[in-house]
Amino acid sequence: MLLKNRVCIVTGGSSGIGRGIALEFAHEGAHVAIVDKRESPLRGKYHETDVTTPTVSEIEKLGTQGIFLQTDVADKTQIANAIQQTVEHFGGLDILVNNAGIHIPGGSQEISIADWDSVVGVNLRGVFMSTKLAIPHLKQSKFGRIIQIASVHAYGGGAGPAYAPAKAAVVNMVRDTALEIGQYGITVNAICPGYIETAIQDYLTPEQIDEALEKTALPRFGLPRDIGRACVFLASDDAEWITGASILVDGGFAAGI
Ligand code: NDP
Repeated sequence: MLLKNRVCIVTGGSSGIGRGIALEFAHEGAHVAIVDKRESPLRGKYHETDVTTPTVSEIEKLGTQGIFLQTDVADKTQIANAIQQTVEHFGGLDILVNNAGIHIPGGSQEISIADWDSVVGVNLRGVFMSTKLAIPHLKQSKFGRIIQIASVHAYGGGAGPAYAPAKAAVVNMVRDTALEIGQYGITVNAICPGYIETAIQDYLTPEQIDEALEKTALPRFGLPRDIGRACVFLASDDAEWITGASILVDGGFAAGI
């Protein structure tokens, strides 16, 4: 087991990619706090159509401990409480995965300024807040790790004027944070997923989904497990000398742009 008895927080862990990360961590022996707005998993129109059980139940079936902490990561008090409760419940914190994210489709003339604030509030400000609040606890760990889930859209336009800039900012924030906290032996890296089969894709048309598959070099879309395995690697001892990096896990999507 690569993460035996490590204590992790996965934001947005009730559904999609976050659920995939939490379950791969549990497979590797970690205890996981699921920090999400609601416990029931999202069911998508195209993907994840039949997911029903809460992530914590699946974690417990794998023989490790899970806890659900109802939290809006855009709210400083709520994320501070979630981190504190995790530390009190498990006795520390080793790994933070900032995965919770939202996408509001539309260009500059469609989305409102409030929409822009919401996307940036979760996808960038929320990532900053939980990173800031977790670092004092990660300093106490011998294995401190931060993993930020960005996007292939960090590297190009086309996902709207809030989502893509917020993800690009996360990629650069990883570099800045790495310089700051390397002295404590904490690593911080980003994973940039391509198209992963989750409910976040519900806004797309079937034709747009076909186009996305054509642009993916490998002949399938990604699954939450694919991102989960990359996170296991970054959280493991094998990645102890990797920090400030952004790793594309996209089936070759970005190779064509
Ligand atoms: P999903 O919409 O399937 O799941 C996101 C989860 O995050 C949901 O459980 C959601 O809760 C939760 N969440 C959203 N906002 C908040 C919040 N403010 N506080 C706490 N929890 C919240 O998305 P994915 O799993 O697909 O996406 C996960 C991450 O991966 C996101 O950051 C996304 O941008 C990124 N990503 C996804 C890609 C993909 O193709 N799927 C590609 C590239 C990046 P609720 O059910 O209540 O909404």
